[in-house]
Amino acid sequence: MITAYIALGSNLQNPEHQLRSAVTALAALPDSRLQQVSSVYRSAAVGPGAQPDYLNAVARLLTTLPPETLLDALQRQEQAQGRTRNIRWQARTLDLDILLYGSAIIETERLTIPHGALGRRNFVLYPLLQVCPANFVLPDGTDLDTLVRDCPVGDLEKTGLQLHDN
Ligand code: AMP
Repeated sequence: MITAYIALGSNLQNPEHQLRSAVTALAALPDSRLQQVSSVYRSAAVGPGAQPDYLNAVARLLTTLPPETLLDALQRQEQAQGRTRNIRWQARTLDLDILLYGSAIIETERLTIPHGALGRRNFVLYPLLQVCPANFVLPDGTDLDTLVRDCPVGDLEKTGLQLHDN
C-alpha cells in the first residue's frame, strides 16, 4: 500500500457539505483505505473579486491504485459534485489534488507530484502537517516542519469541524 495525501478544498455550494461528501467518496474508493482527515481550515479566497471563504482539509489515504487511476477517481468526484444548476456552474464546488503519492516524484502531462501548491500554501501545509508522521520529509529531502515554519499562518483559521472519525 502507498500512503497518498489528498488536498480537499471548496468555497461554493455549502463547502462543509462538499467536503463531507468528498470524504465519503474517498472512504469508498476501491483498493484504498481512508486513514485520517485533518481538521477543516478556513481562509479567505486567493484571487480577484469578492469570493466566499474557502474550507480546506487534507486526507491520508492508503491505496494500491496507480496515481493516474487515483486522479481519474478524484476528477470523477469533482465532476459529480460540480454539477450545479445555477449560473455559476463553471465555478468549482470541489477541488481534489494529490499532494503526495508515497515518495514518488511524478512529472507527466496530467500529474505533478508533489503538487505545486505544497511548498507555499498555508491552507495545504498546515492541515498536511496534522496528518503526517512527525519529522516528515518530502521526496526532495525538504523537511515539512521547515516549510511550515517558513509559511505564515496568515488568516488561516482552524475550525472545530471534523470530517472523519480518525
Ligand atoms: P485544478 O484546476 O487545480 O483542479 O487542476 C486540474 C488539473 O491539474 C488537471 O488537469 C490535472 O491533470 C492537473 N494536475 C497536475 N498535477 C495534479 C495533482 N497532483 N493532483 C491533481 N491534479 C493535478
